[in-house]
Amino acid sequence: MTKRVAVVTGGIGGLGTEICKHLARDGRQVIAADLASREDRLEAFRAETREYDGSIRFEPVDVSSFEQCADLAKRVEGRFGSVDIVVNAAGITRDVSLRKMTEAQWNDLMHVNLDGVFNMCRNVVDGMTARGFGRIVNISSVNGQTGQFGQTNYSAAKAGMHGFTMALAREVAKKGVTVNSVSPGYCKTEMVMKVPEDIRAQIIAQIPVGRLGEPSEIARTVAFLTADDAGFITGANIPVNGGYFMSF
Ligand code: NAD
Repeated sequence: MTKRVAVVTGGIGGLGTEICKHLARDGRQVIAADLASREDRLEAFRAETREYDGSIRFEPVDVSSFEQCADLAKRVEGRFGSVDIVVNAAGITRDVSLRKMTEAQWNDLMHVNLDGVFNMCRNVVDGMTARGFGRIVNISSVNGQTGQFGQTNYSAAKAGMHGFTMALAREVAKKGVTVNSVSPGYCKTEMVMKVPEDIRAQIIAQIPVGRLGEPSEIARTVAFLTADDAGFITGANIPVNGGYFMSF
């Protein structure tokens, strides 16, 4: 069998990079799709993934653009034959309390975090259903489950992602395509390490396992959900948060 082809948006980011590496180790052909403007990070990413010898490639995309996502899907299908796995990990924050939030801070976040999921999925879903195989994983967040001060925009988008996940999961369930969300808790990435140390210590104090998550622990969950034999798991949201948030 030829290699399954995986597109990881936000693929050169903290979690995205680990997801790309894990999927490549599992024998996937991986496309790390991210903003071309992040030249410094891209250089570091290329150095970090050199040993993967072509099984991780970079492709530029701005997920907030439907046309760019359509073009990305066509480029990948043209070069590798299909898009079998999509991991929507592109995301931004625009943290500020609602009383001070501008329309731009709301809209920019929605365009990337939520429209981006529609833009990618809409452009790959027909190919997946036609071929009878697909795995879609949306990287949501614990803050989409609990809400977070200063994050009405982010929490709304992340909760919305899971509504999207469940609805699409139902639409494609009989076609061999699964759609799931992963909701990471606080992980050791740039996004979280930028939080002032005293606040970070307060966050860690609330995590039952007593530490931040490793990006590899999120990647492991994504790899599990995208496996060929994970076809009975769909419409699920898997929390990976060290016990930070538990519910029935
Ligand atoms: P990150 O900032 O390192 O990575 C996000 C990536 O998305 C970056 O590489 C960025 O360039 C890319 N991106 C931003 N806008 C884009 C656009 N318009 N088009 C394409 N790519 C774009 O952050 P991360 O910590 O790796 O987070 C990855 C995902 O996981 C995000 O959706 C984030 O909300 C979610 N998440 C992270 C944590 C955490 O603890 N780090 C916790 C919960 C959820």
